[in-house]
Amino acid sequence: MDNKKNITIGIDLDDTISSSNEMFIKYAKLYNKEKKINFKIDETQWDLDKSFGWNDNNYKEFCKQYLRTLLNEAEIKYNAAEKINKLKNEGYKIIIITSRNEKELNDMYSFTEKWLKNHNINYDKLIINSLQKEEECLKNKVNIFIDDNMKNCMNVYKKLQIPVFLFDGLYNTNDKYSNIERVYSWDEIYLKIKNIVEEN
Ligand SMILES: [Mg+2]
Repeated sequence: MDNKKNITIGIDLDDTISSSNEMFIKYAKLYNKEKKINFKIDETQWDLDKSFGWNDNNYKEFCKQYLRTLLNEAEIKYNAAEKINKLKNEGYKIIIITSRNEKELNDMYSFTEKWLKNHNINYDKLIINSLQKEEECLKNKVNIFIDDNMKNCMNVYKKLQIPVFLFDGLYNTNDKYSNIERVYSWDEIYLKIKNIVEEN
């Protein structure tokens, strides 16, 4: 990878750039209290039935009631904007690929654009509604991918055989896959990207 201008970095949004999960849990607790859902919340689970005791209707209702508020309140991860903007200034192409979709919020694209703007993140392209991130990565010639969802990471790695990083989270601590490296911060991601590019 000799020319940074030809390197595209695909980045997930929720719990890779933003800290949405914390807010999700806060409002999920509130929702369960209101709905008298007596379930011992398990923050280490990925699936909503196992973490909050929800079915699909609970999730739909929860989104209607709380999703806008919680995504708005979600803070940005430490140094995410600094490092992403630095990479962009150095010539890397930044594509944000999220499964957020318009069934959850009808103005999801502009709503998300606004959040990114409010947090001073510079990027080249925002893709929402991405259920198969490996397809978007292929279409957009992504060279390096970062996500907190192991399934997405594995699918992208299998399809493209590119460097893939899993952003650490409570719900993915037990997920392991030999070709996917776990990362804990944007400072670390930045250094690892530089290493990959300089080694090649
Ligand atoms: Mg995510």
